[in-house]
Amino acid sequence: MHLSTIAPLILVFLSSTHAHPLTVRDGSGEGEGDVDPSRSLSVLVDGNKRFREDMANSENPNIIHDLATNGQHPPFLFLGCSDSRVNDGTIFDALPGTFFTERNIANQYHRTDINVQASLAYGLTELGVEHVIVMGHYGCGGVAASIASPPSGNIDAAGDAVQSWIQPIRELYATSTRPEIVSLRQSNSNASAPIPPPKISNPGFRALVEENVKHTVQTIAEDSVVVNIYHDLAAGGKRERKRSAGEEVKNVFIHGLVYDLETGKIVDLGVSVGPPGVDVPTFGSLQ
Ligand SMILES: [Zn+2]
Repeated sequence: MHLSTIAPLILVFLSSTHAHPLTVRDGSGEGEGDVDPSRSLSVLVDGNKRFREDMANSENPNIIHDLATNGQHPPFLFLGCSDSRVNDGTIFDALPGTFFTERNIANQYHRTDINVQASLAYGLTELGVEHVIVMGHYGCGGVAASIASPPSGNIDAAGDAVQSWIQPIRELYATSTRPEIVSLRQSNSNASAPIPPPKISNPGFRALVEENVKHTVQTIAEDSVVVNIYHDLAAGGKRERKRSAGEEVKNVFIHGLVYDLETGKIVDLGVSVGPPGVDVPTFGSLQ
């Protein structure tokens, strides 16, 4: 089924009068430190109340109860960045039950990360997700840090974890032959240290965000979870493994998108992957 025929079934565009607050500032114009802590927490309480009202007034007023009773059958698995500006439910204006979500710094799929592997395995083999959405975003702090000089001097364990986590992106930056990235690398090699994070508009930075998404798509496509599903599909479409043996196997597609922080728009990188011999659905012209 073409993605554009699925999306309207599950994406409900709520009235702008229900827009959720994105800030805990009190609007006084004074500094962040002047915000009353109880007032900032009330943003969450008020938001949850508004969410329940929105659901009660939606096309399916029983959606929360129905999802609890019937279980989740999300059509999409979302692997995105932890960045607070790139929340999947918010930017796609999606209802509960739409996304099975995994987020981490710079939307990566490390083969040594049991967390992301478990999410992919559970989402695809148990929940029957059909579309994996890998989404990066321009202006990604994790990608910017991979271009900048690493911190010097003493670094605590948490900071060390961040540097280890982004190391694959540093390697991508160091080895990519994409012209924008080569150019940025050359200009940084001539700069005096330390190299600062690039500006959001920097072409090399934007290209590295895209290449990082492509790398994640490719890594997922090569993971044994996906390889096994494609094998089962080629062998007749029945699952051969695990406790769901004998069940019909669904097609699984993996897509690479980038979210533009400055406009709120989505860019399709055109790197979607699907089972051998199966037409891969496209997003068409994303507007
Ligand atoms: Zn990010």
